[in-house]
Amino acid sequence: MPRRRSGDHPPDLPPDHFIRTIDELGRVVVPVEFRRRLGLTDGSPLEMFVDGDAIYLAPYREGCLFCGGDLDFGRFRGKPLCRSCAEELVRLDSEGAHSG
Ligand SMILES: [Zn+2]
Repeated sequence: MPRRRSGDHPPDLPPDHFIRTIDELGRVVVPVEFRRRLGLTDGSPLEMFVDGDAIYLAPYREGCLFCGGDLDFGRFRGKPLCRSCAEELVRLDSEGAHSG
């Protein structure tokens, strides 16, 4: 079977799928089309995990410490917080509902 050169697109592969080779240090290049589409630049953090025999990669977007939601509130004492949880914390405090 002839070796595939970079630039060749295997006919059995969907057009938006790519084959990349892992180098001797375990690195792989994310295609520029993917980086552009997802707004990834140098230093962008990626979240990765293994599921079965596949590796998944996604842009890492930090979420709220409590619910994982969007960081539409910002940070409180350095911890990520969403507006909904921030409002809930304020309500709990005003109701005097301190548990423990
Ligand atoms: Zn939250």
